Amino acid sequence: MTDALVEAMRENDTQTSQRALVSVAGLTKSFGRRGNEVHVLRDVDLEVADGELLVLLGPSGCGKTTLLRCLVGLERPNAGRIELGGACVVDAARGVFVQPNRRDVGMVFQNYALWPHMKVRKNVAYPLRSRGHTAALDDGRVEEVLDIVQCRHLADRYPPELSGGQQQRVSLARALAPRPALLLLDEPLSNLDALLRVELRAQLRLLHRELGFTAVHVTHDQEEAIALGTRVAVMNAGRVEQIGEPLDVYRAPASEYVADFLGARNRIELRAEASGAVLAGQPIAGLVRDGLRGSFAVRLRDEHLSVRPGTDDGSGAHADATTAWLRGGRVVELLPGVETSECVAEIGDLRLFARVSTGSADVRPGEAVDVGFTIGKARCYAKDDGRLVPGWADRRGRADLALGVPS
Ligand code: ADP
Ligand code: MG
Repeated sequence: MTDALVEAMRENDTQTSQRALVSVAGLTKSFGRRGNEVHVLRDVDLEVADGELLVLLGPSGCGKTTLLRCLVGLERPNAGRIELGGACVVDAARGVFVQPNRRDVGMVFQNYALWPHMKVRKNVAYPLRSRGHTAALDDGRVEEVLDIVQCRHLADRYPPELSGGQQQRVSLARALAPRPALLLLDEPLSNLDALLRVELRAQLRLLHRELGFTAVHVTHDQEEAIALGTRVAVMNAGRVEQIGEPLDVYRAPASEYVADFLGARNRIELRAEASGAVLAGQPIAGLVRDGLRGSFAVRLRDEHLSVRPGTDDGSGAHADATTAWLRGGRVVELLPGVETSECVAEIGDLRLFARVSTGSADVRPGEAVDVGFTIGKARCYAKDDGRLVPGWADRRGRADLALGVPS
C-alpha cells in the first residue's frame, strides 16, 4: 500500500468515526429562582462521534430529557457550550443561542407528540415545510420516510386512529424527514408493550446501520442500552458518571452507583484487615488478595449467586476454586419463573437475591442454605468513595476481572 493511500484511509477513518458531531462542555442547567433552584444538569461534558448511537442511561429525574432539550434548543442552559457539526449553537458566556428551527436536529418524544388534527402525511411533512425544504416535499421524501418505517399505508389517517407502535414509527419518520445531522430519541420505546418494544428496538438498530445517522437515545432500560448503543453514558443526578462501550460498562461499572443501576443489586460488606478478611460478618480465608485493606462493598447480579443446602458448622464463610460461600442463610421467598426462579435468602440482616433453576429440589422457603457467588463476577467498591477496586480478589477472581476492566 502506498503512503498516500494509507494517509487517505486514515483521514477517511477520522472523518467517519472519530470526528465529534456533538460536543458539549460544562453544560449546566437549573430551574427556579435564585436561592430556590433545582440543579438538573451539573457541568456535563460529552462528545458524540459522527455516526454514533449514544445511549443515555439513568433513573427518572437524573436530567436525561433536559439534556436532550438543551441539544435541540428547547431549553437555554445557564452555563456551558454546545457545538453541532463544528458550529457553536450555545455559548452561555457569550450569549449565543441558536433557535431550534436553525439547528439541524430531529427529536422523537416519549409521548409521540404528533399533531392529532393533522393527517400522518402532514405531520411528517411539517418539519420539511417549516424549514423550507420544498424540493424534498416534491421529491416524495414524505412517502420515502413513511416507507422506511413501514407506515406508508397509514398516510391518510389521523394520529388518534393509530396504535402506539404506529404513532411512534410516524414520529420517527417525522424526525428523519429533513435528514437531520443529529437525531434525539427520548425513551421512544418506553410506552410500548414488551414484544413491540423488542421488535422496534431491532428495527431502530437496523435503521441506524442502514441510514448511518448520528443519534442520542435515552432509556432507563439496560437491555435496550446494550442492544442499541455504540456507547453508553450513565447519568447520576445531572452528571455523566461513566461513559464507554456497553459491555465494558456492564462488566465493569466504575462506581457502586452504576453497578446498582445496571442490576448488580446484591450488596455484601467486606472488611479486609491484616488479621484477615470478613465477608458479611463471617471470617473468610483465600478470597481477597494479599495486602488489601479497608472497607468495601461487593456487588453482584442475581445470576452470579447460587444457593445450596446449608452446611453451617460455625466456622464462617469459605472460598473454593471459583465460588465464595456464605453460611447460615435461610430461604424466605421463592418467586417462580419459567426457566429460573428468584430465590430470596436472608443471612442475618443481609438479604440476597439469586436465580435458581425452576423446580430445583434444594430450594424451598424456610430451608437452611449457603449462598455463594462467583468470585470472578463480583465487583468490589471502596466504601468511602464508591469507586471500583480492580484486582481486589486473589488470583482466581482477578483473572476474570481483568477481562472486563480496562486498567
Ligand atoms: P429525566 O428525563 O432523566 O427523567 P428530566 O430531565 O425530565 O429527567 O428532569 C430532571 C429534573 O428536572 C426533575 O427533577 C424535574 O422535576 C426537573 N425539571 C425538569 N423540567 C423542569 C422545569 N421546566 N421546571 C422545573 N423543574 C424541572
Ligand atoms: Mg425524561
